[in-house]
Amino acid sequence: NEVATLMEVSTTQIISACMSLGIMVTMNQRLDAETLSIVAEEFGYEVEFITAEIEESIEEEVDAPEDLKPRAPIVTVMGHVDHGKTSLLDHIREENVIAGESGGITQHIGAYGVTLKDGQKIAFLDTPGHEAFTAMRARGAQVTDIAIIVVAADDDIMPQTKEAISHAQAAGVPIVFAINKIDRPAANPEKIKEGLAAMNLLVEDWGGKIQSHDISAKTGEGVNELLEKVLLEAELLELKANPDRLASGTVVEAYLDKGRGYVSTILVQSGTLQIGDYVLAGTCSGKVKAMQDERGKDIKKAGPATPISILGLDGAPQAGDKFSVLDDEREAKQIATKRSQLQREQSVRTQRHITLDEIGRRIALGDFQELNIILKGDVDGSVEALTDSFQKLSTDEIQVNIIHKGVGAITESDVLLASASDAIIIGFNVRPMGNARMVADKEEIDIRMYSIIYDAINDLKDAMEGMLSPEM
Ligand code: GDP
Repeated sequence: NEVATLMEVSTTQIISACMSLGIMVTMNQRLDAETLSIVAEEFGYEVEFITAEIEESIEEEVDAPEDLKPRAPIVTVMGHVDHGKTSLLDHIREENVIAGESGGITQHIGAYGVTLKDGQKIAFLDTPGHEAFTAMRARGAQVTDIAIIVVAADDDIMPQTKEAISHAQAAGVPIVFAINKIDRPAANPEKIKEGLAAMNLLVEDWGGKIQSHDISAKTGEGVNELLEKVLLEAELLELKANPDRLASGTVVEAYLDKGRGYVSTILVQSGTLQIGDYVLAGTCSGKVKAMQDERGKDIKKAGPATPISILGLDGAPQAGDKFSVLDDEREAKQIATKRSQLQREQSVRTQRHITLDEIGRRIALGDFQELNIILKGDVDGSVEALTDSFQKLSTDEIQVNIIHKGVGAITESDVLLASASDAIIIGFNVRPMGNARMVADKEEIDIRMYSIIYDAINDLKDAMEGMLSPEM
C-alpha cells in the first residue's frame, strides 16, 4: 500500500507485479529490499535505501567471545485476556523485592527486574499481551528471550492463546506455559495440556520438551517453580552480553512528565549505560541526566538485561526504537535530526490526509472537488472576514466548505474533526493547544497558521490554482 502511494499506482498493480514474480503479498505486507527494487523498476522507479546508510555509521562492533558474560533473561508474559497475565506480573513484582530493599515498586515503567532468593535475575517486560510484543518486533526489536504464556485452567485454549503461541513461535522465542488459576474448583490443568498436545505442543508431563507449570497467580502457588523453569530455559539459551562497552538496547516506552521532562524506559541489552552518556534513541538524542529503577531509586550504572528509566532525551522515542550510546554528542544529535527529517519526508509522501500542497497537486490532476476547512481565530471579526473570503474562493470545480469555525486555540477535538472529515486546519493568530499538535502529527493533519489575512487567502488561492510548490 505504501509503495503504491509513493509511486502513485494502485495497490492491485503492485500486488500483480509481485505475483508475476511469484510472490503472493497482501496490502499491508512489507516487501524485502530485493522485491522492492524489482517492483519499483517495473514502474520506472529506482529505490534508494537511505536509512541503512545512517545506521552504518553506528554499526556495532562484534564482541569477542571472551568479552561475553552471562546475562539475565528478558521475559514477556502473553496469553488470552483475563487468563491472569497482569495478576502474575503483579505477584512476581510484589513477592520479589530485592533482599534488604524496603518498599515496593512505586512506578510503572513498562519493565522491571527481579532478583530471586538465590540471587538469579530476570527482567520482565511489563506490557502484557502479544500486541506490545509484536509492535516491538514490527519495529525490528527482538527483545524477548522467553515467553511465558498464561492459560487459565478453568477455561480453554482460546484464540488469543493460539495467537500468542504463533507470535512466540514466529519470533523463535521459547515458550514456558503457566497453567493458571489452579486454586479454582473448576480448574482442570490436564485438559489444557491435552489441548496443547492436540496442537502438537507437548509439555513435559506429556513426554514433550516444552516447559509448563501449574500455578495460581492469586495465591502464589507454583509461581517460584515456574520462574525456576524460566531460568532453566534461559540456561539452555546461554544468554550472554558484553558489559564492557558503550551501551545499546531497546526503548520500552516513553512519555513526557510535566516536572521532569521526557522519561524513557529502556532496556540495556549490551554494554553498560552510565550517567553522562550521549544517547541516540530513534529520532531523539540527549545526555543521560539521571537513571532510576522501577522503585524510583537513583542508579549510576546499568548493565545488560537491566530495565531503567532515563531522563535527558530531547523527545519521546517510540517503543521498539533501538538506542545506542555514541562517543560524540554532536553526532548523536545529527543522526537523530537526520532520522526525523527522513521520517517527516516519508510521512509527507505517504500521508492519508490532505495538505494544502496536496490540494494543489490534486487539483492539477483534476480529481478534486471539495476543500474542507476548519477555521480558528483569535477574534470573531477575523474569523468572519476569513470565512467570507474563503467562501468566495469557491469555483465551479472546487467547493470550499468551512465545516467548523470558532474563536480560540486549535484543540485536539478540532484535529479529530479534521481527521474524520479530511479537512485542513487554518489558525489565525492562534496556535495548537495541549495535545492538538501531537495528535495532528499522528493523524497527519495539515495545520496552517497565519497572522495576516491576505497571506491566508493567497495561500489558499494558490493551492486552489494548483500552483503551490511543495514545502520540502
Ligand atoms: P489478564 O487480562 O490476563 O491480565 O488477566 P488478569 O490478571 O487481569 O486476571 C483476570 C481475572 O482473573 C482477575 O479478576 C484476577 O483476579 C483473576 N485471576 C487471575 N489469576 C487468578 C488465579 O490464579 N486464581 C483466581 N482465582 N483468580 C485469578
